[in-house]
Parts: sequence; structure tokens; C-alpha cells
Amino acid sequence: MRDFDGKIVLVTGASTGLGAALAVGAAARGAKAVIVNYAKSKAEAEATAEAVRAAGAEAVLAQGDVSENDDCINIAEAAAKFGRIDALANNAGTTKQVPNHANLDGLTRADFERIYAVNVIGPFQMIRAARALLEASDRPSVLMVSSIAGVTGIGSSVAYAASKGALNTMTIDLARALAPKIRVNAICPGFIDTPWHAKGLSADQIERMREGTKAITPLKAASTAEDIADAGLFFLSDASRHVTGETLLIDAGLHLGFSPLTQR
Ligand code: NAD
Repeated sequence: MRDFDGKIVLVTGASTGLGAALAVGAAARGAKAVIVNYAKSKAEAEATAEAVRAAGAEAVLAQGDVSENDDCINIAEAAAKFGRIDALANNAGTTKQVPNHANLDGLTRADFERIYAVNVIGPFQMIRAARALLEASDRPSVLMVSSIAGVTGIGSSVAYAASKGALNTMTIDLARALAPKIRVNAICPGFIDTPWHAKGLSADQIERMREGTKAITPLKAASTAEDIADAGLFFLSDASRHVTGETLLIDAGLHLGFSPLTQR
């Protein structure tokens, strides 16, 4: 597939996991350049950049924390030499593992503020910083990487689920506000087998989650980053040119156990 031919792509949190898969996937589909944002993990970001180059695109590293507005301006600025951004993936995200949602003492105000700063305010600031470059594109598209947690209220913590719910609302809000020029869509993955889980869970817990996901999903699958990236690339490509304000669950059918989907 060459559906990214000539495109300038920016992916936040692209050093690992889904962000790396989106960056490399866009390069493999013909992107001209991929801006690889990372916050701290420079060595991993360089590995993503190397994979982007191997797939045929120019890679530009852009360090920055998306919760900081000045950093977002700098990250967007890394694309300025190309004169436009065709595809922006707001992928960077964070959480705190408090999987027992009844444990209200497990989350502090500071936990909420940090999670919201990265997962909600970060994408807003990135879109604002990139807006002029997005509007310089013929067919700009923004992808929000949300979560099934934001639709069903499950996941690593109450604060995380609430932040992704807010991100879903912001997706339809900005899709309306930035039309007709800029499209904004969200993907809501279920489990993705990425380094994400190792930040708060033991290897045994992760293995149980992986096997549990295979057992309970209708498709009997624990998704890889690449499984999810393909759907994200659909929203970033012209194949979805008449789609905006959509949130797509990509969870091997996990949500079918949650009914009704009143928040969708
Ligand atoms: P990951 O940990 O591999 O990737 C997250 C990336 O975001 C990391 O590279 C991290 O350094 C970066 N990041 C964190 N805070 C940042 C900040 N302030 N500024 C810039 N970068 C920052 O995990 P992943 O699974 O690839 O996560 C990617 C996205 O997918 C996240 O938004 C996450 O909420 C979402 N998601 C993950 C799962 C899952 O099961 N892994 C499920 C649903 C949604």
C-alpha cells in the first residue's frame, strides 16, 4: 500500500509501542517524512527513527513533553521545514495503575492532573501548535489515540478512563470546530501488547492479562501494536477522507461484553 505517498506525518510518543508502529507503518506506506516525538526515551526514539528510514522515509526526532505547551510548539516546529503536516497522531499517553476502581484512595489529585495533562491537554496543545501546518495540507487528518477505557469506564484507573472519555468528547468537538479543513478521529484500542503494561504491572500480571484477553475476546486475540496501527493509519490516510468525529473501537470485540454502549 502506498496510501501515504509524499505525506508529512507527526507522531507523539513514537519511541515505543503503538506510536512506533504508526511511525514505521506510515513510512512503509510511502510517507515522505515522519516526525518522531519522544519525551525521555531517546535511544528508543532513535531506533524508531532508524526503522522509519529503513522503510523509506526521512525521520526527524523531536524531543518534548506534550503536557508542556512550549514543547508542543517545538514539536510542531520540527515539521516546519516541510511546510505542512498531513497527518498528526496524538498517541502519547500515560496512566497510573489502580485497577481496582473502588480504591478511591489509590489516586491523588496530582495523579489526576498529570494524567489529564498528558492525555487530554497534550492532544489539545499539539493540535493548536500544529494547526497552521495542518491547514497548509490539502487533506489534513488528526488521530487521537484513546482507549476502550474511555467508552466503558474500565482500564488501569478511574483517572485514565475519565481522561480517555474526555479525549473522545474532544474528538467530536474539534472535528466539528476544525471542519471543513481538518478531520479529527479517534481509535479506542482494547489490550495492546506494548511496553505500556510493564510500567505498573509484573511480568506475571501482564501474561495473565495477555492470556485473559485471548480467552474473553470474541476474536480470541491479544492485539499487537501493528494490529492497532493499521486502523489508526486508515484514519490518517485519504481512505477515510469523508470520516470525521468518529471513534472506532479496535479491541478484538472486547466491548461486546459491555452493553449497552451508552457513552458511544
Ligand atoms: P507505550 O508506553 O509503549 O507508549 C506510550 C508512549 O507515550 C511512550 O513512548 C512514552 O514515552 C510516551 N509519553 C508518555 N508521556 C509523554 C509525554 N508527556 N510527552 C510525550 N510522550 C509521552 O504504550 P502504548 O500502548 O504504545 O501507548 C500508546 C497509546 O495507546 C497511549 O495513548 C495509551 O493510552 C493507548 N492505549 C494503550 C493500550 C494498551 O493496552 N497498551 C490500550 C488502549 C490505549
